[in-house]
Amino acid sequence: MARYPRVHCPVCDDVVAGVPTRRIGMLSVHDHKRTARALVLCPGSMAHVPAADALAVQEELPEDPVTAAAVETPTLF
Ligand SMILES: [Zn+2]
Repeated sequence: MARYPRVHCPVCDDVVAGVPTRRIGMLSVHDHKRTARALVLCPGSMAHVPAADALAVQEELPEDPVTAAAVETPTLF
């Protein structure tokens, strides 16, 4: 699970995840829709914004112990 900073979309001004890019000091706006049922992405998706404008950093969720136990290497018998 990645830990992405939160940024404002330059088009819809929504708060979305900022994905790291190769450009130093810049973040790419994560793909998002303006409404949940829209068929097209917001035009602000993939736009580059300065990393200094990040609002907060998304915390990594702790791994669920039930899921971790279920993912065991499969055996034949
Ligand atoms: Zn947007």
